[in-house]
Amino acid sequence: MNRRRFLGLAGAAAAVTALSASPAEAGKAKTGGKAAAAAKKNEEFVAILVDTTRCIGCRECEVACAEVHGLPVPVPAKDGALAAHRDTSTDHWTVVNRFETDKGTVFVKKQCMHCGQPACAAACPTNAMEKTHEGPVIWHGDRCMGCRYCMMACPFDIPKFEYNSPNPRIRKCIMCYDRLQEGKLPACVEACPRDALTFGTKKELMEIARERIYNNPDEYVHHIYGEFEAGGTDWLYLSAVPFTQIGFREDLGTDTYPDYTREFLYSVPLVFLGFPPLLYGLSELTKRSGEGSEGGEG
Ligand code: SF4
Ligand code: SF4
Ligand code: SF4
Repeated sequence: MNRRRFLGLAGAAAAVTALSASPAEAGKAKTGGKAAAAAKKNEEFVAILVDTTRCIGCRECEVACAEVHGLPVPVPAKDGALAAHRDTSTDHWTVVNRFETDKGTVFVKKQCMHCGQPACAAACPTNAMEKTHEGPVIWHGDRCMGCRYCMMACPFDIPKFEYNSPNPRIRKCIMCYDRLQEGKLPACVEACPRDALTFGTKKELMEIARERIYNNPDEYVHHIYGEFEAGGTDWLYLSAVPFTQIGFREDLGTDTYPDYTREFLYSVPLVFLGFPPLLYGLSELTKRSGEGSEGGEG
């Protein structure tokens, strides 16, 4: 891919959206103001900050995600109709859930966390799941053999498999990698009417998150989810209540999951490790014989 174009256009998007930013966070609404410059120096992965205190549960992010990726478009229901524990699926790469907490109702967007060192990619024998140089974790359909090790390895239970398809794909949020290459914002970030989602480099978003906590110490718990969890993720979250109250695991530790993945793979009987070439061959045969193959993301 053309990294220079990707980052240059990301900078242009940042400049445009900065014009509509609030005075308090000029240059930091929807995009971090310094994102393009820092990323140009190849210092940082791009990332997204979710401020759950701003989310109103409108689900415009879900609609935008579905529209740009050709998925069934959900019909947003009224807030009260939102379920508390919807999961992502092959047709819904992001979902917004409702939680009743000590501080009232909280809405939380869920999708792939784009881990810094993703277990899904570490477990994939064919590099079909890839952590790109820019940060998004994407899936390459032409490399996938359908072993589903990525699904087993993911600590957030994110990759979903099209069991009912003759040419099954792994489906999940790709951080709009295709849109980023065109200099556009992730669709969900662009669509959010409350600036609950901010795009930038991880370093920059950490600064924004810390600033919000510092300036509003009673409004947030002093914890940025994703700073360290599972070795650090490129989606970060702010919350008014402990993260366990809004559906997050706090038992993941701070080690990178590839460490655990390695142990998992060592524990797999040799007979299963012999499967990948066989599965890959079968997968290729299936793809060739299947009708209307749509291919993968990469
Ligand atoms: S959340 Fe799961 S699918 Fe997403 S990057 Fe991390 S390990 Fe991979
Ligand atoms: S970043 Fe893109 S793929 Fe991921 S949830 Fe948002 S719109 Fe969907
Ligand atoms: S679009 Fe923004 S405010 Fe609406 S549900 Fe999604 S994150 Fe929340």
